[in-house]
Amino acid sequence: MSVLPIHTYGDPVLRQEAKPVERINNELRTFLRDMAETMVYGKGIGLAAPQVGESLSLMVVDLSLGEKPDKVIALINPRILGKEGEQSREEGCLSIPDIHGDVIRAAEVGVHFRDIEGQERELECRDLLARVILHEVDHLQGRLFVDRLSPLKRRMLQGKLRKLAKNFR
Ligand code: ZN
Repeated sequence: MSVLPIHTYGDPVLRQEAKPVERINNELRTFLRDMAETMVYGKGIGLAAPQVGESLSLMVVDLSLGEKPDKVIALINPRILGKEGEQSREEGCLSIPDIHGDVIRAAEVGVHFRDIEGQERELECRDLLARVILHEVDHLQGRLFVDRLSPLKRRMLQGKLRKLAKNFR
C-alpha cells in the first residue's frame, strides 16, 4: 500500500467531471486501498479519486468518522438518491489546506453505489456522514466546498485561494 500525493486547489483535475468506473478489478481495488491509506494518513474522513489525480467516480469514506480507521469503505459510481433537511457546519478539504468555512448541506442523504466486490449497495446517512458523502460527490462533479461558501466568506478567502492556485498558472 502507498500514500498517494494529494492534488490541491488550482489543479484542473479537481474541476473535471469524474468518469464512471466500468471494471471493478484488482487494479482498482489496489488503487482504492491506496486511497484509503492516503485518507487515513491525511487525517481525512473522506477522499475522492480526483484528489489523487484520477478523474474516476470513486470515493472512500471513513464510516467511523475518525474513530476507527479500519471502518473505511469505498463507494464506486456513487449516486445520490435523495436528500432531506438542512445542516450548517464548518468544512475543510485535504485539497484545500488551511482553509475552512461553513457550508449548508442536506441533513440526510441516501446514496447508491457499488462496493469493492462490485455489489450494488445503498446507504442512508445523516449529520456528519451525510456531509462527507455530499462533499465527496461534489468532488466527482468538479465542485469544491469553497464554491458553496457565502459570497462574503469567498471574498475574504480570495487571496489565500489565489496563492494556492499560483502553482497551476
Ligand atoms: Zn474535499
